[in-house]
Amino acid sequence: MEQTAQIATKTEITGDLWSTVLAQLDEVAERLQLDPGIHAMLRQPERELTVAVPVMMDDGHIEVFTGYRVQHSSARGPCKGGIRYHPEVNLNEARALAALMTWKCAVVNVPFGGAKGGVTCNPRQMSEAEICRLTRRYTAMIMPILGPRRDIPAPDVNTNPQVMAWMADTVSMLEGSSVIEVVTGKPVVLGGSLGRKEATGRGVAIVVRETLQRLGRRIEGTRVAVQGFGNVGSVAARLLQEMGCRVVAISDVSGGLYREQGLDVAAIAHYLETHPRSLLADYPTHGGARISNEELLTSDVDVLVPAALEHQIRTDNAAAIQARLIVEGANGPTTRRADDILNERGIIVVPDILANAGGVVVSYLEWVQDLQRFFWEEEEVNTRLEAIMQRSLREVWDFSQAHQVPLRIGAHMLAVRRVAEAIQTRGIFP
Ligand code: GLU
Repeated sequence: MEQTAQIATKTEITGDLWSTVLAQLDEVAERLQLDPGIHAMLRQPERELTVAVPVMMDDGHIEVFTGYRVQHSSARGPCKGGIRYHPEVNLNEARALAALMTWKCAVVNVPFGGAKGGVTCNPRQMSEAEICRLTRRYTAMIMPILGPRRDIPAPDVNTNPQVMAWMADTVSMLEGSSVIEVVTGKPVVLGGSLGRKEATGRGVAIVVRETLQRLGRRIEGTRVAVQGFGNVGSVAARLLQEMGCRVVAISDVSGGLYREQGLDVAAIAHYLETHPRSLLADYPTHGGARISNEELLTSDVDVLVPAALEHQIRTDNAAAIQARLIVEGANGPTTRRADDILNERGIIVVPDILANAGGVVVSYLEWVQDLQRFFWEEEEVNTRLEAIMQRSLREVWDFSQAHQVPLRIGAHMLAVRRVAEAIQTRGIFP
């Protein structure tokens, strides 16, 4: 084991998440003795769309971006999943993230299938006006397969409520009627839900708290490291601190900050919010130390929350991780081989499809409110989120214990079984 832990193979680092997701599905299918036909259906996304997105850039030249929308499964309801803007976006990543959305919606039992989309671009190098034009053209190009009963996008990496507002407006203008319920994660003025922006991070914090409780550990003073300080990591870090944890390390693309006595997460979040396009590297250390993302992952903490991008925990660092509990705020942050190492080392991993499901849970609550044109107080949203996360964790925990499997396998088994049941009950059209 030690030897495999030494070096991550090249394919592991560059290898795509889609092969990880397929291998996971194959393993779960075998354990569940899944019908081979249903297994074959789940190995292939239902529908994939690749679009060319020409954008008039601010200097007058035309740039052509590539965008995707993949619908993995609609067996349990309309497809649901985020839109990502990132230089690494590609079709296989969208496939993988779409399948993870199918499992995620099933594991928390909200009535959606799974989808994902994105545009290969670097939004950090684009102006707001360029991002707006990119969003509108991309939305127009994928609109034939969108709809509140078909496929409902939401924010993901580098997209936000403003991007959702542009998407909702574009669909509404082209339809000639208001269709704001075609996306979730919108600004509250446009029919967004109170509590949606914080929902993924809040869900992660709830899962950390509940899991510690199940392990018989106190939350007060628990040392936490959070990788990624975007919408998920920053909220999770802030709420964990409010719950009594000591957040000793955080990071973003520019690197990380470590402070043994705990960082002032709220002050850092405030600084980044009030200084647009600034990064953690711009923030004064206040007696802490600058660390790399790699150092953050292996720092001396009790709980590690990877809330950045996929494949961060690999064979080259899994053996050095000191946390006893990992709660996956990001989608697919752990490679398969790294996952085996963590299991062998007795580290508990709450998998992405459960740990970061808070976002899609409140997306569901937003969609319900939009369809009714009746909006709830934030407290009601948070209470429902809390109840759904607690129930889902309990179900996955009990199932995994009963089957003597790690939480990731248990969560996937539960999810795949639910999707398979839906397919079986519907029957195969025609
Ligand atoms: N992008 C988020 C995720 O990966 C939210 C998806 C949604 O709300 O539809 O879960």
